[in-house]
Amino acid sequence: MPSSSSSSLSQEPTFSLHLHLQPSSPSSPILLSFPTSLNPLPSLFKTPSKLQSFFHDFNRLIRFHCHHSPLFFSSLSLSPSDSPAVLEDEALPLRVSALDPPKKVLILMSDTGGGHRASAEAIKATFNQEFGDEYQVFVTDLWADHTPWPFNQLPKSYNFLVKHGTLWKMTYYGSAPRLVHQPHFAATSTFIAREVAKGIMKYQPDIIISVHPLMQHVPLRILRAKGLLNKIVFTTVVTDLSTCHPTWFHKLVTRCYCPSSEVAKRALKAGLKPSQIKVYGLPVRPSFVKQVQPKEELRRELGMDEYLPAVLLMGGGEGMGPIEATARALGNSLFNETLGEPIGQILVICGRNKKLANKLRSIEWKIPVQVKGFTTKMEECMGACDCIITKAGPGTIAEAMIRGLPIILNDFIAGQEVGNVPYVVENGCGKFSKSPKEIAKIVAEWFGPKSDELKAMSQNCLKLARPDAVFKIVHDLHELVRQRSLLVPQYSCAT
Ligand code: UDP
Repeated sequence: MPSSSSSSLSQEPTFSLHLHLQPSSPSSPILLSFPTSLNPLPSLFKTPSKLQSFFHDFNRLIRFHCHHSPLFFSSLSLSPSDSPAVLEDEALPLRVSALDPPKKVLILMSDTGGGHRASAEAIKATFNQEFGDEYQVFVTDLWADHTPWPFNQLPKSYNFLVKHGTLWKMTYYGSAPRLVHQPHFAATSTFIAREVAKGIMKYQPDIIISVHPLMQHVPLRILRAKGLLNKIVFTTVVTDLSTCHPTWFHKLVTRCYCPSSEVAKRALKAGLKPSQIKVYGLPVRPSFVKQVQPKEELRRELGMDEYLPAVLLMGGGEGMGPIEATARALGNSLFNETLGEPIGQILVICGRNKKLANKLRSIEWKIPVQVKGFTTKMEECMGACDCIITKAGPGTIAEAMIRGLPIILNDFIAGQEVGNVPYVVENGCGKFSKSPKEIAKIVAEWFGPKSDELKAMSQNCLKLARPDAVFKIVHDLHELVRQRSLLVPQYSCAT
């Protein structure tokens, strides 16, 4: 039941919930405490009695599922030695195959932002490029495609939450303690394990790669329950550059690929062993490694002015942040009133934000402005420009560094993107400002008197870039699959 108390640490009043998530010990509730400022409940439940009855019903529902639904995940019997639990209803027969069929790779991602899909595609493309028919690679959104409602609404919920910063902060930081997210995953498994297990086994994977913070716990519980942990290699590729949510880290993974030493430190702190961790960088599509066409050529192909310096303006896959205000400010600062001519041009990528694209296309600009929706040719767009303005998305930052584009960060998503700001600024790869006017001034200076600063920052970006990360990750994955197939006879999971 809810109660109010004062935290001696923060001096801030806290709001506590007592949840009975363990059916075996109904008398020892889990206590969740939030600062009162983060408490979402008053607006949902006007009176304490309604709130009390909600949690009472919730607890009863969880207990009911755990006790009376033998087919659900929570009904798995654990052996006394805490050896892997085995599903009582459907053990998976292993099919021995005589031929040497392609190995199957299953990449788990979700369209929460554009970065997870971009990393998934990078890994898939690299498997194809490096190993051809040796591997068959599948990419799936486990939550959207293989869970029932309301769990399949995850990508939509994420998009809603990040657009309402306080709600996202509350969700991100509120779910960070293990004490909170572990029981949450356990309770969630009760409802989705069967569907998720079917979803995974449909692909008969030899190796699973999670590129999403919410795709460790439930799949690994399922593999453990089915006794498949020794047969299917499970790995995590963290796609956050610095600060990242603790749910990225699970001790049962074979490998956890970290893009930076900062993330590796967090993995160690979460209890992973050094042998599980590799620091190769963030996987970026292999097309970024290819030789770049000359700038003028790319600009011509993209309908831009061939000779004017160009700034790329974007806000992740969803086209988030103050893009319109920044474009308008640039429209003024990149126009020389005295000479009556532009000193630069803008390429705006609106991602999936169609409303923004339409709005920008309807404006009359004094300088050349190209507006694009979601593009699959990001490497060309970056190759055509001299610097970039973006929110602090890790994918975009890693790509811009490979292209040697100095970065102006104009926004960040609370939680996972906070650390990306010092990562860029302290490494001399760019600047941070939330003011469209100030940003426009910086760009005008870079395209004029401070061109040396632009060059120096471009060099710093190239030094920090890790274009080979995805190749190192994929070759290490290949080695893991090879080693595992030597230990475990050829098999596939028949559904
Ligand atoms: N992206 C893309 N086309 C677009 C917009 C974005 O391919 O039109 C890609 C971009 O290159 C990057 C990813 O989407 O790889 C965005 O990831 P990031 O981590 O920067 O931000 P997120 O969208 O995940 O918040």
